Amino acid sequence: MSLSRYHQKRNFKQTPEPKGKKPRAVTNNKLLYIVQKHAASHLHYDFRLELDGVLISWAVPKGPCLDPSVKRLAMHVEDHPLEYGSFEGIIPKGQYGGGTVMLWDKGEWIPEDAHPELAYRKGDLTFTLKGKKLKGKWKLIRINNDDKTWLLMKLKDRYAEPLKTFDITLAEPNSVKTKLSLEEIAKNYKSVWGKAGAEPVKKKPAKK
Ligand code: MN
Repeated sequence: MSLSRYHQKRNFKQTPEPKGKKPRAVTNNKLLYIVQKHAASHLHYDFRLELDGVLISWAVPKGPCLDPSVKRLAMHVEDHPLEYGSFEGIIPKGQYGGGTVMLWDKGEWIPEDAHPELAYRKGDLTFTLKGKKLKGKWKLIRINNDDKTWLLMKLKDRYAEPLKTFDITLAEPNSVKTKLSLEEIAKNYKSVWGKAGAEPVKKKPAKK
């Protein structure tokens, strides 16, 4: 696990994304799980699981689906720092991943395997989610040797729902952190990040 690819892709003078510390040792037994809804050049959902002190990450173009018969393409992307787990805001245009980021879901994940690092390396990860939106058993499975292409799928349990009657991305479109929509986040952050969110505005030091 390493954050070097994460750091290479970003200019932290230009983006409000957290730089993150070195991969951190787990401080309690709970492993962080988050999904960020990201309106970049194409809308997608970034699915992230804490493992070995970083957030291992996939970009899921169509987002998660509670229907076990529906498998969603999940493109494996670079590890992110744990600090990314609370990030919501605007990545300026022209920067990597430029666009609005919403914290769509957050909670804990519990790996099925005693050694989730091995399962991850093998490309077959089964786990339980305890999020605000996503719950129950899920699976991420690699379908291509290039390590890029995985599938995210719900496993059958009491949290499963047929897609034709329930689409969680439509039923629960807003932030788990602020309840805001993508449009509202974009508007809300303009005052902080400058016109159209294009340039971060340097905060004045607080007077004592
Ligand atoms: Mn993204």
